[in-house]
Amino acid sequence: MQSSWMDFSALKSKADFAPVLAHYRVELKGEGDQRKARCIFHPDNGSSLKINLTRKLFNCFGCGASGNILDFVAKAERGIPLRDAAQKLMEICRIEPAVASNAATPSGAKATAEKDKRTASQVQPEPVKSEPARSGPDRPDGPNKPLTFSLKLDAEHDAVKMFRVSPETIRRLGIGYCARGLMKGRVCVPLHDDVSRLVGYAGFWPEEPEPEGVEPLKLPDREHFDSEAYLWNAAPVLGEMPPPRLAVTQRLEWAVALFDRGVPVVATLWPGLSESQVEVLDLMRPSLIVLVGDDDPAWEAAIADFLPALATGRAVTILDVEDGNSVPEETFAWLRGK
Ligand SMILES: [Zn+2]
Repeated sequence: MQSSWMDFSALKSKADFAPVLAHYRVELKGEGDQRKARCIFHPDNGSSLKINLTRKLFNCFGCGASGNILDFVAKAERGIPLRDAAQKLMEICRIEPAVASNAATPSGAKATAEKDKRTASQVQPEPVKSEPARSGPDRPDGPNKPLTFSLKLDAEHDAVKMFRVSPETIRRLGIGYCARGLMKGRVCVPLHDDVSRLVGYAGFWPEEPEPEGVEPLKLPDREHFDSEAYLWNAAPVLGEMPPPRLAVTQRLEWAVALFDRGVPVVATLWPGLSESQVEVLDLMRPSLIVLVGDDDPAWEAAIADFLPALATGRAVTILDVEDGNSVPEETFAWLRGK
């Protein structure tokens, strides 16, 4: 085949892990999205290999092998070039060559090809809105169901300045002032799940101190939203190269500030880390996790509890800051991994 380039992204979205795993005789354990298996890349007596069927990512705690579905084929074929792995992947999944070639504009093609050659050295947070939804029809919704409505938010409203971030960040994150309804008078941050679906809003009261009886931050009520099964900004981080450093904070306002400075960041939205949040962090494959300490004893205790689990196969460090906005520029630069 002589086409000048191949659209790896289109191929990966068409391809399916099930036939690939069957082809390489990998037997899955468990149910749902997240599966385990005996690793085929190292002598494995247990089930060190984790595979996420929806996101099409894998990660082995025994040998450190990790990547997307295309990387899996390349590795299973003893390190053949990605281009040849793409051919193999098309054969295994019975995908017509037309799907994987010449489907985009030349500039788009270049960007895709470069991304897949892994020349990018840093994660640039992408607008959540433009992320293609990777949800399959059979993906269970879990505790945080996609919303069937969206709030009308005013990004130009003066109250939005409370975040002290650029208009570009406001636009990319979809932040805006809400004039009516349950979030009336609040500056709202849309909450997208790890496949970019809108599952709720977090509303900040824009003035300090807030009036009696007004909560500074309003999250969706517990009946409709489970913070422990959620990680803010997960989709853009999962969709990109593994970040060299990933900041993890419980505070959404700090996460917004860090995002604004180009730092790969996720927020837990509660003073702790759950097992499912740690699992998503594993899939993000950062070389270093930076837990942002903030003087909250509950958060510090949660950090201490999860240090061993987080530190499997990577480094973890704690960065103590008192205010997300008062982090020195050198620290931002370090967090960006430069
Ligand atoms: Zn392995």
